[in-house]
Amino acid sequence: MKSLKIYTVIFLALLLNSCTSTDPSIKVMNLGAAKNAVQAYYESGEFDRECAKIIDDAINQIEKIKLTDKSAVVFDIDETALSNYEYTKQIGFGYIHQLWNEWQQKGIAPAIKDTKRFYDYLISKNIHIIFISGRNAGVGEATKKNLIEQGYTKFDALILRKDNESKISAAEWKAAKRKELISKGYNIIACIGDQDSDLAGGNTGIKIKLPSYLYLLD
Ligand SMILES: [Mg+2]
Repeated sequence: MKSLKIYTVIFLALLLNSCTSTDPSIKVMNLGAAKNAVQAYYESGEFDRECAKIIDDAINQIEKIKLTDKSAVVFDIDETALSNYEYTKQIGFGYIHQLWNEWQQKGIAPAIKDTKRFYDYLISKNIHIIFISGRNAGVGEATKKNLIEQGYTKFDALILRKDNESKISAAEWKAAKRKELISKGYNIIACIGDQDSDLAGGNTGIKIKLPSYLYLLD
């Protein structure tokens, strides 16, 4: 009995530790203040300035790569190719599954300006573009229409999650999809995304991480 209690205490201590130590640099703050800070970041031009710098740097790095006819760059969609900022702000910076689906089906998310600039640069270099997004395949048509209307007119594939793939983490799923691309002969020279999970695992090439303060995906 005593040992069970000890194990229980150890277990709870570990659980508490795992809950609080995901990122020790993050301090708890008032939720309203946090939302105001996020809004100021996106609306003051800071987000655009940061993206512009990241893309300039990415282009400089790609300029140094020897390209082949199978060179490819993998793009994430949400908060990378397309912005959901206005939608997210409208609902108070939360996540409501049904509203998120409805929003995606509308297909009206605007392009993130500097990601589009990066895309245009890659197209001018005849580099293949592949979208890999955790969006459900059910919003595939709307997503394709949205991308094309925002100027992402040319891409080899739009890879979305099928229902039976929803259980694995974003990082694991994206890495598996990149592996499939490699087996098809693509040479992935870079990946661009707003979440660390877009850039985790193998076959990423240069990792281009855009800022994201709206949500966190594993
Ligand atoms: Mg994203």
